[in-house]
Amino acid sequence: MLNNLSRPAWMELNLSNLAHNFREVRRIVGDRAIICSVKADAYGHGAAEVSKVLENEGADALGVATVREAAILREGGIKLPIVCFSLIPDNLMEYVFEYDIVPVISSVESAKAINDISKNKYNDRVVSVMAAIDTGMGRIGFLPGDEAVDSLKTIYNLSNVRLKGLFSHFACSDDVNKEYSLEQLDKFNKFADRLESEGMAVSSKVIANSGACVAMPEAWLDGVRPGILLYGYLPSNDSEFERAVNDKIKLKQVMSIKAKIAHVKKVPKGTKISYGSTFVTDKESVIATVPVGYADGYLRCFSNNAEVIINHKKARVVGRVCMDQFMVDVTDIDDVKIGDMVILMGSDGDMNIDAVELAERAGTISYEIICGFGNRLEKIYT
Ligand SMILES: *Cc1c(COP(=O)(O)O)cnc(C)c1O
Repeated sequence: MLNNLSRPAWMELNLSNLAHNFREVRRIVGDRAIICSVKADAYGHGAAEVSKVLENEGADALGVATVREAAILREGGIKLPIVCFSLIPDNLMEYVFEYDIVPVISSVESAKAINDISKNKYNDRVVSVMAAIDTGMGRIGFLPGDEAVDSLKTIYNLSNVRLKGLFSHFACSDDVNKEYSLEQLDKFNKFADRLESEGMAVSSKVIANSGACVAMPEAWLDGVRPGILLYGYLPSNDSEFERAVNDKIKLKQVMSIKAKIAHVKKVPKGTKISYGSTFVTDKESVIATVPVGYADGYLRCFSNNAEVIINHKKARVVGRVCMDQFMVDVTDIDDVKIGDMVILMGSDGDMNIDAVELAERAGTISYEIICGFGNRLEKIYT
């Protein structure tokens, strides 16, 4: 029944482009494991659908940020290993068993909690874990050193916990200057060697995010964890970084945002538009109302500060973006009527508005733009 209640505003997701982007990553990194980041509902794209495509394309594992995200994938029938990139609080560790999650751990206590749950409730089922090593991100993980070696020894010797791998994360892999990333990589490799020399061999060392997938082959190790590349964007739009990697990978955008004009009218010179009357027409104008707002991820900072595509022309956002609607000036576009298609993000022939353009207008990164559109708009997969 709800299917008949679609809004004239939606997100389109091109799953062939997603598959293309995955194949590009596969082409670059070869047959090492690709752990696809599908956290935050696959960066707003819909994790269950995205994960099915990635599973079919030969992804080796998926990465989520929360237990609930893992549960959604399992309930959607996903069979691939699921790594939880963020720490799972000890009181939720039971779900590691229920949803077959590979937890990333950052303390001996968490490993012991898993070991205890395994003993008490799961017939000594052995759980594989990745130990996070903080090589310079300052976020989660053991600081490499003697204490960490001791901690990992304790974890290594727990009967129901298998130390499957080491996990670290780059802070600056999308920077053209690789100095800090190489320092991080060196710390990571040295720490892994040290563990090995102390008799703790780990089968999987993984540190590379999207930035390192395209720019640091030496960091691919046993696997990579791309995210943003899969959705069609580079991790940085710094022009130097773009130039350095552009010929290495050809990405296609997956997400477009579209709507149909809800209202249109001719207004006299001096008409005030939207909250705060921040826009006033300087001549007789035609103003169209688009039924999308900041609650859909079309940010309020696009007020008087973005463009959309209508009938193959660009139209400016005028006045403040409201929660559910905003206005555009269509005075210079012929015959705009209710129901005409508006492209808020996406392509129309050679015209394109992408998440990078919107991010620049908003003073943020493409990641935040695409995640933000995931909240309320209906997703249509093509
Ligand atoms: C989000 C995340 C990734 C993917 O990052 P991208 O920049 O999108 O490639 C990889 N690893 C970890 C730990 C993450 O949290």
